[in-house]
Parts: sequence; C-alpha cells; structure tokens
Amino acid sequence: MFYSVQIQAFRDLIGQTGVVDDPERIATYTTDQRQLFTGSTFAVLKPATTGQVADIVKLAARLGIGLVPQGGNTSYCGGATPDATGSQIVVSLERMNRIREIDPVSMTASVDAGAILKSVQDAAAAAGLLLPLSLGAEGSCRIGGNIGTNAGGLSVVKYGMTRDLILGVEAVLSDGTVVSDMRKLRKNNTGYDVKQCFVGSEGTLGIVTGAVLRLAPFPVRRATAWLKLAAGTPLAELLALVRRQSADLLTTFEFMTATSIALATDAMINPPSVGAGPGGAVLVELASSSDHLDLDGLMEAVLAEAVESGWVDDAYLAQSGSQRAAMWEVRESIPEGEKRRNGSVKHDISVPLSAIQRFLGLAGSTVRNYAADLELSVYGHVGDGNLHYNVLVPSGVDRIEFGREIERSLSLQLYDIAASLEGTFSAEHGVGRFKRHLLEKYGDAGRLAAMRRIKTAFDPSNLLNAGAVVYPLEPSSIR
Ligand SMILES: Cc1cc2nc3c(=O)[nH]c(=O)nc-3n(C[C@H](O)[C@H](O)[C@H](O)COP(=O)(O)OP(=O)(O)OC[C@H]3O[C@@H](n4cnc5c(N)ncnc54)[C@H](O)[C@@H]3O)c2cc1C
Repeated sequence: MFYSVQIQAFRDLIGQTGVVDDPERIATYTTDQRQLFTGSTFAVLKPATTGQVADIVKLAARLGIGLVPQGGNTSYCGGATPDATGSQIVVSLERMNRIREIDPVSMTASVDAGAILKSVQDAAAAAGLLLPLSLGAEGSCRIGGNIGTNAGGLSVVKYGMTRDLILGVEAVLSDGTVVSDMRKLRKNNTGYDVKQCFVGSEGTLGIVTGAVLRLAPFPVRRATAWLKLAAGTPLAELLALVRRQSADLLTTFEFMTATSIALATDAMINPPSVGAGPGGAVLVELASSSDHLDLDGLMEAVLAEAVESGWVDDAYLAQSGSQRAAMWEVRESIPEGEKRRNGSVKHDISVPLSAIQRFLGLAGSTVRNYAADLELSVYGHVGDGNLHYNVLVPSGVDRIEFGREIERSLSLQLYDIAASLEGTFSAEHGVGRFKRHLLEKYGDAGRLAAMRRIKTAFDPSNLLNAGAVVYPLEPSSIR
C-alpha cells in the first residue's frame, strides 16, 4: 500500500491507537464542516502527549510530510481540512483533552489543546467561574482550534476574543521544539509575546498542545431581553445607549433580521412569540456576578429609554429561565435553519461600529441590483461590528455551483464595500483554504510581507498546514 512505510513509522513512534488509516474512519477528518471541500489524507495521527506531538513533527519533517492540525473540524473556511494531494497528514488533538487545572484564586484554566470548549466551560462553572468564550459549535470545537482561529462568539462585546483570554501557551514548532509557556501571568513584559503568534495562525506556525485561559467570576444574575427594532434603527447608537445605561454590564448584543428569525423558528416545536420589527431584532443580555444588583430593574429602565428613543418598537424582558433559553435558541438555531433551507453563502463581515449602518445600506442596494429576488439572512455579533451577511441558496438550486457563482461576483462587491469602510472580509472565521485569495486581494502589502516573514521564520519548509493563510517566502528572496 502507498505510504505504508510512513504509516508504520508513525505507528512505531506513537503506538497502534494513535494512527488511523482506515479510509472510512478517516473520512470525517477530510471534509470541512460546511461540506464545501473534501481533501485527502493517508492517515490521521492522534497523539496523547506533547512529547508525542514533538516526535510526530520531527519524523514528518524528516519524511517531508505536511501536517494539518485539527481540533473539532468546525472551521468555516476549510482551515482544518487537508488539501487534495493526499500527502498531508491530519494531526487530531482529540486524545489530548485533559483539564489540567482550574485555579480559582488566579482565575485560570490550564488545559490540553484538545479539550472541548464546553467541557472547559463546565469545569470552570463547577468552580464558580466563567470561561467567557461561547459559540454555537462549543460542544464540538476544541481549545486548540479556538486559539488557531482566534474564535469570537457571543460575549466578545464584554470579554473580547480568544486573544484576550489567553495567558499561557504550550506549542510544538515545526522542528519539534516545544514552547513551554503555561504561566498564569497577566503581566509579563519579557520580550516578544510569543503565545499571541499562535492565536489566529490557523495551524500554520505551530501545533498548540496546551493553554492557560483567563476566567471571570460566574454571573449569578442575568437579564435577557428581545428588542423589536423600528425601521432604520441606528444599531451602533442603540448599542451605545444600552452600554451607557446598563453601567456597561452588557454581555450580548446580537442582531437578527426577520428572515433569519423565521429560518430559526420554522423548525421549533414551540417557537417563542418573539419576532422582528421593520428594522429587525436584537437579543440583549446583561450579566452580573453579584447578587446585590437588580438586573431586571436595570434592564427595564434601559428598555424604557430605548423605546423612548424611537429606535425600538417593542421590547420583552425574559421572565424565566425557559423564556431566556427560548430567546437564545432562536439566535443559535439560525445557522441550522440556513442549512435546512439549502444552505447559504456566508459573508463574515466586520466594519467599525460607526460604519455598520452605512454597510447595511450599501450592501442592501448592491444585492438588489445584483438580483432583486435574492434572499438574505443577516445576523451577527453587532456589538463587535460583526455581521453574518449571508445569501440564501434558492431551493432546487445546486448549493455548490450557486456558491461559486456568488463568490465570483456578488461576494467581491460586498467585500469591496467592507474594505471601503475600513472593514474586513473575515471577522472571526479566519482565512483557511477558502479565503487566501481574498487575503491577497484585500490585505495590506506591508502586513502580508510581515506575515510571510513570520511564517518563514516559524516554518521555513512549509510543513504546517501548507496551503492555508499564507505561503512562506522563497529562500532566494530572504536577505
Ligand atoms: C454552528 C457554528 C457556530 C460557530 N460560531 C462561531 C462564532 O460565533 N465565532 C467564531 O469565531 N467561530 C464560530 N464558528 C467557527 C468555529 O467553530 C470556530 O472557528 C472554532 O474556534 C474552531 O474550533 P475547532 O476546534 O473546530 O477547530 P478546527 O476547525 O479543527 O481548526 C480550525 C483551525 O485551527 C487550526 N488548529 C486546530 N487545532 C489546532 C492546534 N491544536 N494547534 C494549532 N492549530 C490548530 C486548524 O489547523 C485550523 O486552521 C462556528 C462554527 C459552527 C459550526
């Protein structure tokens, strides 16, 4: 069998259970989450320790075999999927899933990179702490993948992205060197912040094997509300009002259009009687770790002021845990709802908050000019200037073909608008394999040059996730 010598060499290194070469079992590792691309690999390696990851990297470097680190394979941009050549091996961190320590005094979680996000959240909660990273894929994505993509999610407006939550890292470089910096320090000005190099690097600079994450006090009170927006509501101004009047206790500000809400509620057995106003709807949540704050009272005052401003037609405060859960279910079911409706072409746009309204106006007219009958599902973490501006695939139309057509034409017009407003084509999904051409097109030349130099310094032979994000510099061009 082709590659059988190499497979045996990896078996000798990390044992029988650490190497999967059965094509049926491999299949789930080679197709991306959205099933847009299927790559190929001759084996999936499942190391159990950081030492084994280092051994794998050294052997792969000797054999000239590329490695693709993989966590939960929930990436939206094909970042964790091997290419089609069949010459790259997937390194899945799924066996490295230990929660090493929850330190309630330092308020940190030290974990293996293969730990599932939800299991780290649960371990922190058991100690009365919050891991403030929350996203729809949290039951299957892993900390190494969250670091690889600098995941954002539903609480960024309050706690920031993964980059803001990481205190320490352990990672294996492309020559097998182990970077061991699992410290819990908030202050450590001792030269380059190496751990941050791995954040958002999508497996191209090293294989993360462990991390120390910053925790927060667990919120014991929450107030959750659903706001139906008037036509033309300025979202950024409404956000500013809510932040100001809630003493900045805001943890969530999620915008949804009527179409997105309908996609979510269509399949719910008992959908909550929330809906959208002409300007859409916003899910707002305040949270506090103190029992002494009357959050419902505070939220009621905020809602009254929002209605008074004329930007909100109607607002509901969740009166119970189940009402709160139902509101959240609507927000979290939108991606599934899009899938049920034959899928969507996703645009993960980010623009400065001050430009959100302008983006919505320009993008709306661009879509109407392109094809008046196209349906949009627009929603997102607007508190962070992030919009998922998705074009729904019409029923009966080939999903892949339609996607290619839109991405060749309309998507570029939308990205042009985002760029003209100092925004970006990828807010939180990353670059991966699907968006490299966009990085080349929209990336600042100097920044791209710096990225190539960093890649060259960390991984000169392009061993790690080759084909994702950027290529290293040609040796001849390095002076
Ligand atoms: C329903 C749904 C909702 C989502 N919502 C959000 C959201 O709100 N916000 C958001 O930011 N994203 C979201 N995503 C995208 C995705 O879940 C995140 O990007 C997530 O962080 C990826 O984690 P993962 O473990 O699945 O990584 P993977 O998909 O396995 O990998 C992602 C990238 O990280 C690299 N990588 C993985 N593990 C390592 C490692 N140990 N060391 C180095 N590199 C590694 C991979 O090579 C790849 O480039 C969502 C996805 C789904 C399916």
